[in-house]
Amino acid sequence: KEKLELIAQRIRPFVDFPSKGVVFRDICPLLKDPEALSVVIDLFEEHVRATCPGVELVVGLDARGFLFGPLLAQRLGVGFALVRKKGKLPGPTVSVAHTLEYGKAEAEIQEDAVHAGQKVILIDDVLATGGTLYAACELMKKQQAEVLGCLVVIEGQT
Ligand code: 5GP
Repeated sequence: KEKLELIAQRIRPFVDFPSKGVVFRDICPLLKDPEALSVVIDLFEEHVRATCPGVELVVGLDARGFLFGPLLAQRLGVGFALVRKKGKLPGPTVSVAHTLEYGKAEAEIQEDAVHAGQKVILIDDVLATGGTLYAACELMKKQQAEVLGCLVVIEGQT
């Protein structure tokens, strides 16, 4: 509980960003505080060890999933792969279209980033509508990877 409070204190809400009516959760203060950041990774690690045995790969979502994912992957002793916005990754890729709060996007991975049967967990900073994580799950399904769990720092309620 104390840990969660420390983390919550390091997340700043910005009203009407990036557009009116949206409350943006800014995680920069969390990244600036090494103690709070390692508490986040401790909690993720504890959770994954307890609920996702046999995890083989951490998959991070563009862009702030890239900040937490590799730290967690190192703790777990597994690799890290990226789901990116369309057009950023070289070589053969697979993509899935999804809707955002405002408009549309496509999530993409390199074809060889995950393999069939691989046990993965997905990670991002904020869950809002869930559209982004859902698209990433669809990508994993396309590649026949097994999603053991999804992790976020904040479940965004606006
Ligand atoms: P969703 O697809 O669940 O609606 O939105 C989640 C995605 O948008 C995540 O990749 C997340 O990084 C970004 N996002 C949406 N709202 C916020 C927010 O308030 N703060 C931050 N840091 N990211 C957000």
